[in-house]
Amino acid sequence: MREHFDILVVGAGISGIGAGYHLQTQCPGRTYAILEGRERLGGTWDLFRYPGIRSDSDMFTLGFSFRPWTEAKAIANGDAILRYLEDTAREFGIDRHIRYRHRVIAADWSSDEALWTVTVEADGRTRQFSCSFLFLCSGYYNYARGHMPAFAGQAEFRGRIVHPQFWTPDIDYADKRVVVVGSGATAVTLVPELAKQAAHVTMLQRSPTYIVARPSEDGIANWLRRRLPGKMAYMLTRWKNVLVGQYFYRIARKHPEKAKERLVDMVRCELGHGYDVATHFTPRYDPWDQRLCLVPDADLFAAIRDGRADVVTDRIARFTPEGVALESGDLLPADLIVTATGLEVQLMGGIPVTVDGDVVTWSDRLTYKGMMFSGVPNFAIAFGYTNASWTLKADLTAEHVARLLNRMARRGMRQVTPEPQVAVQPQPFLDFTSSYIQRVAKELPRQGHRKPWRVHQSYTRDLLALRFGRIDDELVFSNPEPARRRVA
Ligand SMILES: Cc1cc2nc3c(=O)[nH]c(=O)nc-3n(C[C@H](O)[C@H](O)[C@H](O)COP(=O)(O)OP(=O)(O)OC[C@H]3O[C@@H](n4cnc5c(N)ncnc54)[C@H](O)[C@@H]3O)c2cc1C
Repeated sequence: MREHFDILVVGAGISGIGAGYHLQTQCPGRTYAILEGRERLGGTWDLFRYPGIRSDSDMFTLGFSFRPWTEAKAIANGDAILRYLEDTAREFGIDRHIRYRHRVIAADWSSDEALWTVTVEADGRTRQFSCSFLFLCSGYYNYARGHMPAFAGQAEFRGRIVHPQFWTPDIDYADKRVVVVGSGATAVTLVPELAKQAAHVTMLQRSPTYIVARPSEDGIANWLRRRLPGKMAYMLTRWKNVLVGQYFYRIARKHPEKAKERLVDMVRCELGHGYDVATHFTPRYDPWDQRLCLVPDADLFAAIRDGRADVVTDRIARFTPEGVALESGDLLPADLIVTATGLEVQLMGGIPVTVDGDVVTWSDRLTYKGMMFSGVPNFAIAFGYTNASWTLKADLTAEHVARLLNRMARRGMRQVTPEPQVAVQPQPFLDFTSSYIQRVAKELPRQGHRKPWRVHQSYTRDLLALRFGRIDDELVFSNPEPARRRVA
C-alpha cells in the first residue's frame, strides 16, 4: 500500500517549512507531507554545530516573508535561527506534517497514473508514497560528506583533524594552536570564535576572498521596530535590505575595478597600512564572481589586530606530525587542524529520478524559472540566490508552486511539464567561479538565454515574474482528470 498525498515536500529546512506554509495557505484543500531524512527540522541550521555558527546574510531577508524576525541581531547565530524555524513550524502547525527519519531514495513518475512513486527509507524499512506533485526542498549539498581534499601525510599528524560539518562538542581547542584551512564563510566565522579560547589561530588559505565587515545589529531595523508595528517594520527592513543589496551587487558587477578597490580599502582601514592586505585580502577574481564573506562587527579583523589570529596565504605541501608544511618551506605548528574546505554540492537530495522509466540526467535538462525542469512533469525544487538570502527565492518558488497547483486544478489537468516552445541556448546554471560550484558544474542542469528558462539572481525580477507574472508560459498541461476526460 502506498500512502498518497497531493504534494510531497522533501526536506524540513528553511525551504521545506516555507513550502509547508505556502501550500497550506494557498492550497488549503490539498494534502501534503514533508519527508525529512533527519531526526529534527532545520536542515543546515541543525546540522552545523561548529563554534560561532551564524548566518552570513541578514535575518530580515533570510527570514520568511510571512513571519517577522524579531531578535535584535540581524546577523544571527545558529541557535537563534534554529529556534526561529522551530517556532515557525509550531506556530503554523507545519510540524504536524513532517515525517522524520524518512529519507527519500527514489522518485519515479508515471504519466499513466499521473503520479510520482516516492521510495523512502524509514527506520530501516523501505516504504512507498505516491503524490501528484513532488517539491524538493532538499538544499544543495551532501549531508553525509563534506569536501575534503586528500592532503599528503594526513595520517602522520599527531593532533586532531576536523571538518566543520562534523564538529562535535568534545572537540577541545582551549589553549591549543589551531590551523583553519580555508578562506570561505565557514573559515572566517570560525577563526575569531576559536581565537577567543585557543592559544593561537591561523587561517591558512590558498587564495584570498573578499571580506566585508558589517554591524551585527541593523540600527535602522531596530529604530523602526521601536516605532512601528512588528510586521510593518520587518517588511520595510526586508525591502531596504533587498534594494540596498541589489544596488551594491549591480554597481560591483558594472564597475568591478572600483568595487574591488573599495572592498580592499575597507580591509586596509581595519588592519592598518602596515598589514599586507595585497597578499591576504586581495582576491584575483572580481567581486561576486564568488560570494562575498561577511564578518559581523569586524570580529575577524579584531582578532588579527589583537594578535590572537593571523592569515597565511600559501599552499599545503603536506601534513607532518607537528602541523602543516607549506610549499614556501614554512611550517605551521598545530594541535588541531580544521579543514574548512567546503561542501560537496548535491542537488535533488541525491535522489535518482525517472520519468516513465527513463532515468533523468540533470545536465541534459533546462531549468524553468529556476525551479522546474524541461521534460520533468509535476516537479520543482527550491534553490536560493547566490547573491542574496536563500529564503527570498525559496519563498517565491513555494508561492509559485502553489499558484501552479491551483491553475492545474482549475484547468482540470493532472500533469504540467515545462517544454521549450522556441529554441533555447543552454548556459551554465550558475555563473559562479567558486571551486565548490566548478567541481560539479558539468553535472548541473543548464539555464537558457531567455525567459522563462533564465535564472535571474534578482529578487525584484523574480517577484514580478513568480508572484504576478504569467503562469503557463511554455508549460504543457496534459493528462485531464478522468471525469473531464469522459466529457471530452
Ligand atoms: C554553514 C552555512 C551557513 C549558511 N548561511 C547562509 C546565510 O547566511 N544566508 C543564506 O542565504 N544562505 C546561507 N547558507 C545556505 C543555506 O543552506 C540556505 O540558506 C538554507 O539553509 C537552505 O535551506 P534549505 O531548506 O533549502 O536546505 P537545507 O537547510 O540544506 O535543508 C535540506 C533538508 O532536506 C533534507 N533532505 C535532503 N535530502 C533528503 C532526502 N533525500 N530525503 C529526505 N530529506 C532530505 C535534509 O536532511 C535537510 O533537513 C548557509 C549554508 C551553510 C552550510
